[in-house]
Amino acid sequence: MEEIKRDGVQQEALTIVPNKETTVLQNGGYVMHTIEDVQEIYFAYIHDTKDRDLIMKAYEFVKQKHAGIFRKSGEPYLQHLIEVAYICASLQSGPVTLCAALLHDVVEDTDTTIDDIKRLFGDDCARIVDALTKIQRLKLSKRTEEEFAAEDHRKIFLGMAKDVRVIIIKLADRLHNMRTVKALKPERQHALAKETLEVFAPIAHRLGIYKVESELEDLSLEIEKPEEFHHIVEQLNEKIANRTKALNNLKKKIADIIIEQNIKFEIESRIKSVYSIYKKMFIKGHAFDEIYDFLALRIITETELNCYEILGLIHAHFKPIPGRFKDYIAMPKPNMYQSLHTSIIAGDGNIFEVQIRTKEMDEIAETGVAAHWRYKEGSHYSPKQEQHEIEEKLHWFRDFLDINNSSRDKSASEYMESLSKDIFEANVYVFTPKGKVIDLPNGSTPLDFAYKIHTKVGDTAVGAMVNNTLVPLNTILKTGDIVEIKTSKTAPGPNENWLNIVKTSSAKGHIKRFLQKKNSDLVKEEKINRGKTILNDFFKDRGYDENQMLSLINTDKVLKNYQLSTLDDLFIAVAAHNPTPAQICDFLKIKRNDTNELKIFKKENFEDDNCPVTIDNQTGFKITLGNCCTPIPGDNIIGYVTKGNGVTVHRINCPNVANVKGRLIDVHRKTNLGIKSYPVDIVIESRDRNNLLADILNAFNTNKVKCTEINAKIHQENMTTSVYCQIYVSDANVLQHVFDILKGMKDIYEVKRVIH
Ligand code: MN
Repeated sequence: MEEIKRDGVQQEALTIVPNKETTVLQNGGYVMHTIEDVQEIYFAYIHDTKDRDLIMKAYEFVKQKHAGIFRKSGEPYLQHLIEVAYICASLQSGPVTLCAALLHDVVEDTDTTIDDIKRLFGDDCARIVDALTKIQRLKLSKRTEEEFAAEDHRKIFLGMAKDVRVIIIKLADRLHNMRTVKALKPERQHALAKETLEVFAPIAHRLGIYKVESELEDLSLEIEKPEEFHHIVEQLNEKIANRTKALNNLKKKIADIIIEQNIKFEIESRIKSVYSIYKKMFIKGHAFDEIYDFLALRIITETELNCYEILGLIHAHFKPIPGRFKDYIAMPKPNMYQSLHTSIIAGDGNIFEVQIRTKEMDEIAETGVAAHWRYKEGSHYSPKQEQHEIEEKLHWFRDFLDINNSSRDKSASEYMESLSKDIFEANVYVFTPKGKVIDLPNGSTPLDFAYKIHTKVGDTAVGAMVNNTLVPLNTILKTGDIVEIKTSKTAPGPNENWLNIVKTSSAKGHIKRFLQKKNSDLVKEEKINRGKTILNDFFKDRGYDENQMLSLINTDKVLKNYQLSTLDDLFIAVAAHNPTPAQICDFLKIKRNDTNELKIFKKENFEDDNCPVTIDNQTGFKITLGNCCTPIPGDNIIGYVTKGNGVTVHRINCPNVANVKGRLIDVHRKTNLGIKSYPVDIVIESRDRNNLLADILNAFNTNKVKCTEINAKIHQENMTTSVYCQIYVSDANVLQHVFDILKGMKDIYEVKRVIH
């Protein structure tokens, strides 16, 4: 390495700004390059003939396709493409990137299709051109501030780029457009300058491409704040003129010191960008004189160790300013920047900043991610692998994720994974009809969009328009789609199927909550009905119809007693057996309403013409069925003549008539009386257990046996229960059948008729 090799070049650059590459001023003060200039750069690192041929094929292609088209600045359109390729080549981009750089406007501006690109230049190149075309079509810079914030804009851009190469070409494209921006109308100049400052310069910064970043910033500042810009340039030039001699003296001194130690190095000077001075003056409020690092010396050496050695030498010979030393080698900046910074007082009393770094660190400082991205001949170049490596290295993603820092605690690799997924894969950006940007995960549907707008919009969605076409709700949205949701007040709302349609967890959550609420409403209705039925049945058995039941229980007294507020609440409580209908009856002291059914039945039984029993050749007797043994058809019966000449009918084995002699007469059942059932008192003996009564009633119910009374008597001494029932059966056969059923039930060991 030769001492002070770059000195001459840098001294020329000291007569400032804005462009360091300027040698022949033509358009807007810039050099117009030729394809040969581009070749000169990439020939240094692309040697494969096939690769070189492909780049020239792209050049010949766009030369023909864009022929006769001129830019607003008056130059042929081809010039723009050459310049973009030139910038990419100076970042040492690979052959595919250079092809895509030349082709970046050909699909948008000519009749060429993506398929043409694919056929002629390959899939990889076509994908890059496709992404660039889509970004171009969004016409982001034409949207107003209300439509979306710069942050959204950066996200959309990165979301669409999906590939570092797309970002680099887009930055190169914007850089050349900004270099020639003065050919445009003032309002267009401002729109582009604003967008450049808010969107592209921050991206260049985060990618660490200082070269591009600082030029983009300076060019934009000149448009946005011309007075301040020119004020700073004037002061800079004046200061530099005053300091050049001191600077050169310092350089010489430092060079002498390092040479003595046999350390290889280069030394150059660097001027702070106008924009960074502007920020210090107008945003942080410093006076120009307070900015003493506008001029810096940069020492580039071979190894990290050399850097620290040189630092030691400088600190030994010059007085460092306390608090100005920064070790970015040990603690790199998020955009991978590494360097040692210190400020020293030169012999003349001027303060200079000195930056010390290796050659590799210097490349990263100037071209950031592009330094890693740099095309390396013969290194089994794989775009995928390359991009993966870059993303691994890029801490700048962290900056973007400050907005949703929930993933902060995750381990670094997981973090990077979710991050690159978020930025490069996961997101689609769609627009409301008013142009607001909504970002959604990849694979999202109009329903996700609807829920992102508002829960209500989601819940009442009935259809969706995408780009003015009616589409099914499960359509997958693409970036750039304009989405409109059709809602209806009478919409049935979400259903289970929607859970399969949505992608976002927030939409899933909303739908689940909606369905849960709907289900609990259904369940509630069911409970009310069940409670009502239970009460109805219970009261019906006691001789009350539904209206009577309702008027009995629907009182403030009842509700207050059970601490309920509505009748529905009472039904729900009854459905849960708390309280039971019996408890309510007890509380209200409701007695059996005897005016109904039983009386009707008795009447049927005891009126003469309907009497089920006859006595041979006899009339005029008042016949009654014995209450003691409740005879039914099929029983052997006998009549007992009472003292008042009435006849009571008993079962023949009824103990009440067993020992009676005389006064007994034969009686016969009448048939076809149309009486379907007769009351029978029975007792069921069982071991005591839970749910016994419920099981018995259930057995009656399923066998269509009417039961009008059921009472249980628990015998604590032997843990048994006697259940007394009055049931209605048509005859002895049916009764036997009921007995068989009861005897088949768990824990029931005896069933018999009761004789009172
Ligand atoms: Mn372009």
